[in-house]
Amino acid sequence: MRDTIGGKTMPEGAIVLWFRNDLRLADNPALSAALSTGQPILPIYVLDDETPGLRKLGGASRWWLHRSLEHLAQALKDCGNTLHLFKGPAEAVVLDIVQATNVSAVLWNRRYDEAERKLDAAIKERLKTAGLDAKSFNSHLLHEPWEVTSKAGTPMKVFTPFWRAARERGEPSPPLPAPVDIPPAMLPSATGFKPLRLADLALKPTSPNWAVQMESLWQPGEAGARHNLGLFLDSAIDGYGENRNRPDFRSTSRLSPHLRFGEISPRQIWASAKMAVDSGSSAGKPYDFDKFLAEVGWREFSYHLLYQFPQLASANFQARFDAFPWQNKTEYLTAWQQGRTGYPIVDAGMRELWRTGWMHNRVRMIVASFLIKHLMVDWRLGEDWFWDTLVDADPASNAASWQWVAGSGADAAPYYRIFAPVLQGEKFDPKGDYVRHFVPELAGLPNEVIHKPWEATHPVLARAGIRLGTHYPFPIVAHGEARDRALAAFKSLSTEAAA
Ligand code: FAD
Repeated sequence: MRDTIGGKTMPEGAIVLWFRNDLRLADNPALSAALSTGQPILPIYVLDDETPGLRKLGGASRWWLHRSLEHLAQALKDCGNTLHLFKGPAEAVVLDIVQATNVSAVLWNRRYDEAERKLDAAIKERLKTAGLDAKSFNSHLLHEPWEVTSKAGTPMKVFTPFWRAARERGEPSPPLPAPVDIPPAMLPSATGFKPLRLADLALKPTSPNWAVQMESLWQPGEAGARHNLGLFLDSAIDGYGENRNRPDFRSTSRLSPHLRFGEISPRQIWASAKMAVDSGSSAGKPYDFDKFLAEVGWREFSYHLLYQFPQLASANFQARFDAFPWQNKTEYLTAWQQGRTGYPIVDAGMRELWRTGWMHNRVRMIVASFLIKHLMVDWRLGEDWFWDTLVDADPASNAASWQWVAGSGADAAPYYRIFAPVLQGEKFDPKGDYVRHFVPELAGLPNEVIHKPWEATHPVLARAGIRLGTHYPFPIVAHGEARDRALAAFKSLSTEAAA
């Protein structure tokens, strides 16, 4: 029997395999390590809404998690095993499980939010004190956040040198294969320790069930992730370098929620992309692949930032933004959330988010800039709304991206670069198809005014069946005035910071 992890002999007993943000069987280092012992494996998932400091998952992520756990449970069943579900403070739950069962080790893949890291360290400590082995692995990133440094060995704050340094570390190791059999360990029923049914986790919305449309749009789980990657490498990669800014057709991979929940690993994406380039089986050009892998690099960079600045979602990376005179008007925030600002590209984006749980990256930048700069609402309120409504809501990428747009981040867009919503709409949704899809009340407008209905003449509006202020709002703020106000606020900040 192979009974070692990292060359160390294991005591007899089951291996608890604790799934978290790694809901897959292929390229799962903790699972491979567990299998290498030859000992029975007890797969668990713990929904932890109780440990103080842990950020609770938002509504859209919970919906995704339900579906993803469903798929993981089936995949484990196909390998002769069972996923055991629990709810409660993770430390108490994991320790209860090991006490109730003859366990020799607990294995998991790492997560990087500070509260999660502290919790995992505390659990590891308690398991080791109890004489058990506890080991963690990297499954979520190409490189651990502390591995990529400047030549001087310091953390990095600018993307381009970060990504260069990451690439100089060489090719990621090839992905691990998916197992066929996973020997099961039993939870002794005599202890009265009862795992839950998936429905007991109450992850799906009920009244109202706002996820109806999401059900038909997404296929959470490993197979869905593989499908999206295949589709992307077969078609959308061709021209990705230019097209990735276009929300009016399927121009990107839509892998983000799959990556968020670890249904696919960045190493698998890397390996598949490289294979497609090398074999010439994909229509994509080297430039397209480089651009695509650099986007995966932005995800790595976000984790690098989160690791060096754990308050990324709650505090300005640049402290001078602490004095920013946010106005935080509730009616503005509500209009933005509901997609009723009167700016079609902004409203289309916010409605796409609500309907599908996802939004195209270019439009995320436009709506975030609009909230922060045109409406002068604190970026943290926008980050929080995205956290609740995105299926890919990610502790690193969401916070880093909001700070990027706000100008308060590490390698951020300068604050004074304010996206003009009409120009952005005309450039990236030139025929208005995206707006027509998500703001159907504007569908009858001709292309020339689809991004600025207030400039349409009365007859044009009448022909399109629109009365502004009734069917669709007038702009909530005038672009020029809002821009001047935002710039003045920033200037006052710079002066204060300099004083
Ligand atoms: P593709 O273009 O196919 O890119 C492939 C992968 O690279 C993505 O799946 C994603 O994992 C990664 N990636 C791409 N762009 C970025 C980026 N700018 N930053 C970090 N990683 C990136 N992404 C999230 O995964 N979760 C979030 O919560 C999130 N919040 C965001 C909030 C704002 C305000 C902005 C501007 C961007 C945010 N992003 C977030 C980044 C980006 O919008 C999404 O990753 C991307 O739209 C996902 O679509 P895709 O999978 O088709 O991307």
